Amino acid sequence: MVNMDTNSPDLIPHSQPMLGAAEIKKTAEVIGSGQIAQGRMVAEFETAIADRMGIHSALAVSSGTAALHMTLVAMGIAAGDEVIMPSFVCSALLHAVSYVGAAPVLAEIDPVTYCMDPGDVKNRITARTRAIIVPHIFGRAADLNALLAFGVPLIEDCAQSTGGSYAGRSLGSFGHAAIFSFYATKVMTTGEGGMIVTGSHDLFERLYDLRDYDNKDDYHLRFNYKMTDLQAALGLCQLERLPEFIGRRRQIAAQYNRSLAELPLRLPRESSDHIFYRYVIDAGQDVTPLIETLYNKGVACTRPVYKPLHRFLNLKGYPKTDNAWRNSLSVPLYPALSDRRVDIVCSALIDAFKGK
Ligand SMILES: *Cc1c(COP(=O)(O)O)cnc(C)c1O
Repeated sequence: MVNMDTNSPDLIPHSQPMLGAAEIKKTAEVIGSGQIAQGRMVAEFETAIADRMGIHSALAVSSGTAALHMTLVAMGIAAGDEVIMPSFVCSALLHAVSYVGAAPVLAEIDPVTYCMDPGDVKNRITARTRAIIVPHIFGRAADLNALLAFGVPLIEDCAQSTGGSYAGRSLGSFGHAAIFSFYATKVMTTGEGGMIVTGSHDLFERLYDLRDYDNKDDYHLRFNYKMTDLQAALGLCQLERLPEFIGRRRQIAAQYNRSLAELPLRLPRESSDHIFYRYVIDAGQDVTPLIETLYNKGVACTRPVYKPLHRFLNLKGYPKTDNAWRNSLSVPLYPALSDRRVDIVCSALIDAFKGK
């Protein structure tokens, strides 16, 4: 493994947040107000998200993982239940399902879109299946029509697709519930943070109760998964710029697709259902040496998934996921990336493939 010194001034980082004067001003206002924990700003942020997504209710929480955990608890999912999710995703999903004692059931992906393969999901549905967690992975909407047809409650994982859409409608508005993450390098950020949206009034009431342990007359297990007003202030600024962020992401993706078209690679297809949280290339070969070569040329690239979940569980029989993990390369793409740097990344990739 190369030692990734991401603080090197010459290295183009793989991801970076986009923060500015508005964020500084609004967080300073929160500090000046003396109210820094969950308060007015959080409520304002929740309303702004619900309005933008066209969904009835939104509840801000401390992370995407907390959002998943609390949603599973609020849906009454527990030991003896099964939850289907893809193997090709971060381990936050595995943790959330394990927190409630349910059994994770891993599904294969479509090797072109990297989203869950509905045909494989169908084969894994049993009488114990209580939910399917559907990530819109790398910013691309999953095949929601096919997945909704199974009649199993969907939890949309929009952690990589905030502001994305499917067939012209906001992601997050299709499932029984949907979760978002606002970690530092996600589509928009609050440092750490998350959101749950749902059209179900009952589910929302349970979620609202679970988020905070204090000031309750009865005792049952609850959490402290609250967001702070400081985080929400950042979130409000970022949400305002979300269309601009997504526009810039698509612009960079188009630039990559043009410049890299001649290389022996499979490039991601542009579509209105893809916001390019990640620009993932299928290199048709193990990307380990490529990552090192590109790093030495000053470009930080990574595998888009650290390790597929079936490997954590020592499961076999996921050839498409294994192949995607081996061959897929995530190239820097974020709104703060300049045109000049996009050109540098393209030249580095072209040279790497020519063996220069
Ligand atoms: C980041 C991420 C999460 C977890 O969010 P955190 O805020 O880091 O807890 C869940 N699902 C997916 C697909 C993610 O990318």
